[in-house]
Amino acid sequence: MKMRIKIALAGNPNSGKTTLFNALTGLNQFVGNWPGVTVEKKEGRFREDENIIIMDLPGIYSLSPYTPEEVVSRDYLLDEKPDVIINIVDGTNLERNLHLTTQLAELGIPLVVAVNMMDVVKKKEDKIDSARLEKELGCRVVEISALKGTGVMEAARLAASLAGGEKHIPRHSFSGSVEHALAHIEEAALHSLPEGKQRFLAVKLFERDEKIIARLGLPDAALKHIENDIRLCEEELDDDAESIITAERYAYIESIIEGCRTIKNKGKLSFSDKIDMVVTNRFLALPIFAAVMFIVYFVSITSVGAVATDWANDGIFGDGWHFLGIGSAAYSEAIDAFEAGEISDEPDPAGYGAWVPGVPVLLGDALEAINCAEWLQGLILDGIIAGVGAVLGFVPQMLILFAFLAFLEGCGYMARIAFIMDRIFRRFGLSGKSFIPILIGTGCGVPGIMASRTIENDRDRKITIMTTTFIPCSAKLPIIALISGALFGGAWWVAPSAYFVGIAAIICSGVMLKKTRLFSGDVAPFVMELPAYHMPTAVYILRSMWERGMSFIKKAGTIILLATIAVWFTSSFGWGDGDFGMVDMSDSVLAKVGSGIAWIFTPLGWGDWKSAVAAITGLIAKENVVGTFGILYGFSEVAEDGAEIWANLSASISPLAAYSFLVFNLLCAPCFAAMGAIKREMNNTRWFRIAIGYQCGFAYLVALCVYQIGTLAAGGGFGPGSAAAILTVAGFLYSLFRPAKKTTMRNSATVPNI
Ligand code: GDP
Ligand code: MG
Repeated sequence: MKMRIKIALAGNPNSGKTTLFNALTGLNQFVGNWPGVTVEKKEGRFREDENIIIMDLPGIYSLSPYTPEEVVSRDYLLDEKPDVIINIVDGTNLERNLHLTTQLAELGIPLVVAVNMMDVVKKKEDKIDSARLEKELGCRVVEISALKGTGVMEAARLAASLAGGEKHIPRHSFSGSVEHALAHIEEAALHSLPEGKQRFLAVKLFERDEKIIARLGLPDAALKHIENDIRLCEEELDDDAESIITAERYAYIESIIEGCRTIKNKGKLSFSDKIDMVVTNRFLALPIFAAVMFIVYFVSITSVGAVATDWANDGIFGDGWHFLGIGSAAYSEAIDAFEAGEISDEPDPAGYGAWVPGVPVLLGDALEAINCAEWLQGLILDGIIAGVGAVLGFVPQMLILFAFLAFLEGCGYMARIAFIMDRIFRRFGLSGKSFIPILIGTGCGVPGIMASRTIENDRDRKITIMTTTFIPCSAKLPIIALISGALFGGAWWVAPSAYFVGIAAIICSGVMLKKTRLFSGDVAPFVMELPAYHMPTAVYILRSMWERGMSFIKKAGTIILLATIAVWFTSSFGWGDGDFGMVDMSDSVLAKVGSGIAWIFTPLGWGDWKSAVAAITGLIAKENVVGTFGILYGFSEVAEDGAEIWANLSASISPLAAYSFLVFNLLCAPCFAAMGAIKREMNNTRWFRIAIGYQCGFAYLVALCVYQIGTLAAGGGFGPGSAAAILTVAGFLYSLFRPAKKTTMRNSATVPNI
């Protein structure tokens, strides 16, 4: 049997590890243009040889254990002992990337440096002399482009050939006094360990790395001895040990890089820099961000998307016959002209397209033909088709939104948003890093919440977990599209406003929470590499649409289907005339239960049982809100095609109440899946309850203010509800603007344990 070889991919965030991993393994790990999204390591097999295992490690800037990524990567490299490391280095930013290289070189594991992004380097007409770099670093250097696939297989083959071979001896030495101390440390504490490991451990002991000290379990005498050596060196160089090492590494890199690289357009602004001068400009950044998101939501939900959805709703799920065909617009014009008497002959539809039955008609006929029981027909047509179909009808809008988001992420714009937000958040004591999970949450809250792991500061991480799902995820899109389309006639501002309500809720919550005792504390520094702008490939965008779209459709076929069936049964059966059986909806079990809780929402303007039930089913999955409406309003006898379901809905709820309903559903506790993620990430039941309680309470109060103050503004009378709303607004203002709690605790590890 051949030997197993383990190759570890290590490198800075955004250097292209995941892209390389995918190219080598043929797997499809999603490549996000985010720093630090890969917190967990991932394993795959090399395409050319299944005995070669490839590990994608989280992106790191150094081997110090300060961030969760660094801990995962370092523990892997130290404990699992890969046979060889491929260090992916961003060729457009050698200075910063080689800092990690110098540390990896000390591990005593064979090392291949893969200089990535060579396509960009070549395009800029810069040159990298890899032969010289190889000599300077003392390890093999290859040039690759993970994206284009050039050189990647060769890099892996080379790495495999070095596996387990000769231990790499680093060429770099520190200044005399540091080397002197290192030699002493090796002598005092490490001489019994394998030779390859000594260098790395000696440097770490010199840096007083607590985890390494604990791991080695050195006797006190040895520690004292070492401490003495470090002190001497620190006095001599007049700096602390850790800074000495960092500074010397950078000085070393600077000294070798001059000879290894030539930059053609030195000092000239790149295309990316020029865009950034506008896009991240102090004054323009926010208006541009608002305009971009406005366009995204307006186009995908209100304009283009709505046309596509109308077609899907009427044509596929609509409960009637539909005129389909390229000429349908021309046909209705011709009909109008005929009816207005402008032309005398009735137009012949065959000349324009064809009349086709919607799915319900076809299915209804089929069920009739096989003599299907009446209740089953009801379940299929009025339950499943009406419920799941209502949700699926929004797929076109969703796909357009996904395409926009994939583009904004892929081209590098979203990374800038985190950077821009950092400037704003910082003023309130929050870091822009909190914004990355929120931006990811625009697709789905679950990965958004999970991305909060990369936030080191415990309080900030908790605030982020609590507020991430305020951003409208794709499952909330049907609710937004429904309210905007059916109740506001597609008014231009409704759909984009949902996004801005989410952002405002996050910023306000962040500010309010940060001022409380539980969350006060210092701002953690936020370093972020901004990737250069680049045109995302069509494949990237399509894949992102496909992945998100498929997971949506899968959800429709499972959890939403089940919820729909449950809603149909409970809304069709009940005790009529003392017997349990099919009854009018108003006598159903669901109506009884719904009426029992609907009063809670009366102050918000939608105290009818159907809306209350819809909001509750939304806690299972947000799409259920629309699915439930589809069933509860589709039943009515007058519903003859899909559009009338929504007409029934709009007749029973006022636009203001509908907006309050929208706000409540955007902000209240997310779906089960996201709540599960919150529970896992909080890893503490009390904190989980605090998060869910905060979300529901906040949503209730904001919706209350929307409805009550809207009613007042529209000339409605003053009542207890108005008084409550005004008090709430006053409370919000106080929480936002009161002075922050002074804090003396610097260490984030000391969050009060509640
Ligand atoms: P990771 O954070 O190290 O896993 O980096 P990713 O694999 O997620 O890549 C970050 C970004 O760089 C993505 O947008 C990739 O498409 C892009 N990228 C990766 N390799 C290359 C390359 O060789 N050339 C170019 N132009 N872009 C690349
Ligand atoms: Mg990655």
